[in-house]
Amino acid sequence: MMAVDSSMPAGIPPARGRLRACVALSELTWFRVGGPAEVMFRPADVADLSKFLRRLAPELPVTVLGVGSNVLVRDGGIAGVVIRLGGAFARVGGDGAEVVTGAGALDGNVALAAAARGLAGLEFLSGIPGTIGGALRMNAGAYGREMRDVVVAAEAVDRGGTVHRLGPEHLGFGYRQTAVPESWIFTRATLRGTPDNKTAIAARIDEIRAARERTQPVRERTGGSTFKNPPGRKAWELIRDAGAANLSRGAALVSPQHANFLINTGGATAADLENLGLAVAERVHAASGIALEWEIHVLGAAAGAGPADCEGKGA
Ligand SMILES: Cc1cc2nc3c(=O)[nH]c(=O)nc-3n(C[C@H](O)[C@H](O)[C@H](O)COP(=O)(O)OP(=O)(O)OC[C@H]3O[C@@H](n4cnc5c(N)ncnc54)[C@H](O)[C@@H]3O)c2cc1C
Repeated sequence: MMAVDSSMPAGIPPARGRLRACVALSELTWFRVGGPAEVMFRPADVADLSKFLRRLAPELPVTVLGVGSNVLVRDGGIAGVVIRLGGAFARVGGDGAEVVTGAGALDGNVALAAAARGLAGLEFLSGIPGTIGGALRMNAGAYGREMRDVVVAAEAVDRGGTVHRLGPEHLGFGYRQTAVPESWIFTRATLRGTPDNKTAIAARIDEIRAARERTQPVRERTGGSTFKNPPGRKAWELIRDAGAANLSRGAALVSPQHANFLINTGGATAADLENLGLAVAERVHAASGIALEWEIHVLGAAAGAGPADCEGKGA
C-alpha cells in the first residue's frame, strides 16, 4: 500500500521505493561535504522509477547521483528530488560475451563479475570507484579504455517516465561526457568483453588496483579528477607548472599525491573546495592562458540558498 508522507513537499507522488525528506548528502558523497537533498528517492525498480517521474510535479527538479565520486554538492544542498538507484539496480548478469548490469552496480563489481566469467576488456572498471550509471554519464575511463569501447546498449528513463533503449549511436560518447540528455537516468547497460584466461584477467585487475594506490589519493575524501585534460595537455602538469599545487582554502587542499585531485582533509566546506578549484584554474589561466574546465559536476545551491524546508535539518 502506497501512502503519501505528510512531511513531503507538495507534488511528490507516492512510490513503492523509499522516499525521505531532507537527507544529508555529505554522508553520500566522496568529498563528505554538501547540504541536504530536499527529497531522496530510491526507486524499487524501473517501473517504480518510471511511474514516479510520470506523476512528479513537472516544476520539481530531479538530480540523479551514483556514489558521488565525481560530484561536489554545494553547502545549501539540492532542491527537488535526488534519485539514487538501490539494490534492484545493482544486479550483474548476462551470458556469452555480454555483461548485463544495473546502473546502480559498482564498476569494481562489474569488473570482478566479468573476470569470474573469463571476460577480458572490462578490467579498467576495477579502478573507477563509481557506479555504472555514473560511468555511462561520464564516459568513465582509465588505462586507455573507456565506456565507449565496451558499451553495446543502455537503458534510460527520461523526465516524463518514458523508458528508452539506446544503442551506441544514441549514446554519443565524448571525453568524459555523453550526448544523452542530462535529465535522463541510466538504469541498465550491456557491456561486451572478450574471452580470455581468468588468471590473466585477475592479474591485470590486481595491477590496476596497485597502480591506483600508488598514484591517486584513493583513501582520501576526494572527487576524482577535478579538471578535464585540455587537448594534448595534462591538467595535473598545468597545475604543477603554474605553482598551484600547494594552494589550500581552509581544510581543502590540492592533493600532494596528484595535483588534479582536491581533498577535504576534514572539516572543509563545499565552498572551500569550490573556491580552491576556482583559484587553481585562475592560476593556470594566468600562467598558461589555458582555461581549465571542471570534470567534477558541481551541483546544488550555496549555503543559505538551498531548500527552505530543510533549514537546520539534514545538513
Ligand atoms: C579516487 C578516485 C579515482 C577516480 N578515478 C577515475 C578514473 O580513473 N577514471 C574516471 O573516468 N573517473 C574516475 N573517477 C571519477 C568517478 O569515479 C567517475 O566519474 C564515476 O563514473 C562517477 O560515478 P558515480 O556513480 O560516483 O557518479 P556520481 O559522482 O554520483 O555522479 C557523476 C555524474 O553522473 C551522473 N549520474 C550518476 N548516476 C547516473 C545515472 N544512473 N544516470 C544518469 N546520470 C547519472 C550524476 O548526475 C553526475 O552528473 C575517480 C574518482 C575518485 C574519487
